[in-house]
Formats: sequence, structure tokens, C-alpha cells
Amino acid sequence: METVYLNGDYLPKSSAKISIFDRGLLFADAVYEVVSVINGRLIDMVRHIARLERSLGELSINAFADWSSISENLVAENDLREGLVYLQVSRGVMDEREYRWPAPDTAPTIFAFAQSRVLIENPMVDRGMRIITRPDLRWQRCDIKTTQLLYASLMKMEAMAAGVDDVWMRQGDMISEGTSQNAHIISEDGVLISHQLDRSILPGVTRIEMLAQALSMELTVEERAFSIDEAKNAAEAFVTSSTLLIMPVVEIDGHQIGDGQPGERTGKIRQNYLAAVQRVPSRTN
Ligand code: PLP
Repeated sequence: METVYLNGDYLPKSSAKISIFDRGLLFADAVYEVVSVINGRLIDMVRHIARLERSLGELSINAFADWSSISENLVAENDLREGLVYLQVSRGVMDEREYRWPAPDTAPTIFAFAQSRVLIENPMVDRGMRIITRPDLRWQRCDIKTTQLLYASLMKMEAMAAGVDDVWMRQGDMISEGTSQNAHIISEDGVLISHQLDRSILPGVTRIEMLAQALSMELTVEERAFSIDEAKNAAEAFVTSSTLLIMPVVEIDGHQIGDGQPGERTGKIRQNYLAAVQRVPSRTN
């Protein structure tokens, strides 16, 4: 994945340079998107662009670009069949370090890159993820997809040290979300429970299509927070993200979920999700 995009140019990654006074670097004053690529096609691009524009709007960052074309060009230039495209936008470069924002006409820094990654044949689909829970100590605007990812990064290191796959974060006794995924359970009586959209979670793009597929499978859906005990007593648990798509969870805090195997309905949702997203055109224009 040699070719990257920076402020209008496609160039080798070793030539892409950013100022040390970029606000993304000094203040994490930046937002981003991660789009999955399957069979050389961008998945759910329209929804990713909508969320990117919302994130930019919430932070009053004036950035306009043809996000679809940039992403498609990176896929083509790098001959990417399966993996991820990252779109990154910061408020831009200051003259000198200063908390207050530079003038609104300051050019944003826009860059993007592609990464090859196995999404469909991920071995975790068959074995399921093992999760631990930790307090959610992030800021209270988790609905904006900013590049402030230090806490998520610390939690992933804790998961690694504990010999598990990832962390679900808790606010009191309630689960908010995973470090980089939305968290969901299916209760013993067949209700799919997924945290409601509010400022404590990222509105996942994968979550939207997952919920549509669950409804078409005639599962009852409740959008509300669930507790750690509910999760431990659930029949199935899973996460959604552009990187993991729909991924089963088989253990939470050392407690086996269901029979300890990836859930059947989770598997069906994953299958239906994959079929659905590959039918949708990746752009509308
Ligand atoms: N929640 C968090 C904190 C994330 O970082 C992500 C993705 O990176 C998600 C949820 C899942 O979002 P999406 O399905 O749009 O990838």
C-alpha cells in the first residue's frame, strides 16, 4: 500500500509530510473515517461520508473534498482487493501553537491511505472474541469520530496483557461500547439489545445495516444500554465495526457466553450483512 493521498496529491507514503504545527498532531483536532473494501469495492461509502460530514460539522471544521473519488483512487492505485481505506481530516496548520482555532478560512489537512487486511476469512469468526470490561474513561462526545484514540489504545494494550482480544467499556454497570466496535447482545428470549445512539457511543455505520438485517430476520430489537450481568447471561454477544464487520463474542470477563461457541444468529446476521452490503452501489453519483 505505497500510494497515499495528501491535500490533493497522490504520492508515495515516504513523501507524504505534515507540519509539526498541524492541529491534528498537537490537539487531536481532527476526525476520520475507516471504510472497508471487499472485492475491490468500498462498503457503505454513502453512510461513511454522511458521518464524516457530521463529525466535521460538530467541530466546525470546514473541509470539502470528493471523499468517494479519493477513496476509489486509493483502492485502484494500490490494487486493494480487501482491506480498509482511512480518510483523515484535521483543522489544519497554525502559525504557532495556540488553543484557539486559526481563522475559519485556514485550509484543513486532508490525507488518506489504504491498508490491506483480511476481513471475510478472519479466523476470529470461527473461534469468537474474548472480551474483558474496563471503565469508560473517554470524553463525553464519543458520537464524534475524532482522532483522540489514546484511551482506546491503552485499553487494547490491557486486553493484550490479559491475553484476550479486546475491551468493552462500562459506565457504572452498563456497557457503552468496545474500544473500536459497537457492542450487542441477544438475550435468552431472542431480543437483540444494542446501545441507543447518544453521546456515549460512536454511531457505527456497520451497526445500521446490522440492525436492518436483524429486523429482517424478525428478531426483536431494543436500542438501550445493557448491563454486564445481562451480557454475561446473554445467549449470544457480538461486535460490529468496519474492520471486524459482524464478529461473535464468546467470553466476557472470564464468563462463557451461551455454550462458548460463536452464536448461530450472529453467524446468520454476518452472512446476511455481507450479502446486503455487497449489493448496494458504493456511491450514489
Ligand atoms: N465504536 C468505536 C469507538 C469505534 O472506533 C468504531 C470504529 O472504529 C465503531 C464503534 C464502529 O463503527 P463502524 O461500524 O462505523 O466502523
